Amino acid sequence: MMKKIAYLGLGTMGSGMASNLLKAGYELTVWNRSAEKCKPFARKGARVAETAADAARDVDLIMYMLSNDEVVEDVVFGAKGILRGIREGQIAIDMSTVLPATSLRQQEAYAKRGVDFLDAPVFGSKQESAEAKLWIMAAGNKAIFEKVKSVLGHLGQTVNYFGKNGNATTMKLVGNLIVALELEALSEGLVLAQKAGLDLNTVMEVVKVADFRSPLLVSNGENIVKRDFATSFALKLMLKDAGLIEEFADSLESPIPALRVVEKNLASAVDLGFGKENASALIKALEKEAGVEVNARPAS
Ligand code: NAP
Repeated sequence: MMKKIAYLGLGTMGSGMASNLLKAGYELTVWNRSAEKCKPFARKGARVAETAADAARDVDLIMYMLSNDEVVEDVVFGAKGILRGIREGQIAIDMSTVLPATSLRQQEAYAKRGVDFLDAPVFGSKQESAEAKLWIMAAGNKAIFEKVKSVLGHLGQTVNYFGKNGNATTMKLVGNLIVALELEALSEGLVLAQKAGLDLNTVMEVVKVADFRSPLLVSNGENIVKRDFATSFALKLMLKDAGLIEEFADSLESPIPALRVVEKNLASAVDLGFGKENASALIKALEKEAGVEVNARPAS
């Protein structure tokens, strides 16, 4: 029975998940590099750990959601990292978007300590995290998955088991390949519509109902035409993920010609200074090239 949980990484995604663990009644320990993000959790009764190693002590389950592979490496393997505090019989879950190889490296290191490990990345963004409506994938030992399934159930609307370690992070990269291409398609389409003088509100009315509709196209499209680029999923993280997809696909000699184009456009938008904005700011690279700004002002 899981009672005590440590959550590490209280960013856009981690803060929502940690809140939902508190709401579900778990005894929560939190740790974040920037300590001020722990304060709201302390006020709600969470223990605040000084280091990742300290957070890992005396809990049943350690979960984390961190920026990228390098940060995960540091927080797990570093001098004050989880491996310094974790003990036999505990369970660790990495929910970050990383390379499958990073999941496997963690699994091996934890196994040497008698610790079970699942990779469990998620689909959904800031809102789905806050509302416990994420789509969660998990991989690793099936019996351990069954043990923690109810915990994951407090964070998401679906939890899919993917078999051996690394498979869930693989699925995350497959999904983000599709997300990247959808964002590029949306951006190219809206820029063309703007150049052609269409009314962008009417364009979005069609995007909402036509047979190519998707929640991702609708939410990002509506925000783009309102010029709202508030961050749910940072553009720089999308660029990071494009790099992971490229590295992983290349290792399997799987073709990704369209992803390479998106990656170039993502890098251009980051170079223009939009890395901290939402990933939909990808459109700003195309807008610059096209010499237009997509917005909902009625066009002639
Ligand atoms: P975020 O808001 O930038 O949060 C990143 C977290 O990592 C923060 O807790 C941050 O701590 C921590 N961190 C960064 N550098 C660190 C370092 N050197 N040492 C220790 N901790 C460090 O990012 P996010 O949007 O929550 O994304 C987190 C992960 O989820 C990423 O792998 C992302 O690809 C994935 N993801 C994101 C979304 C989304 O829609 N946002 C959806 C699915 C998956 P500080 O607070 O100190 O900066």
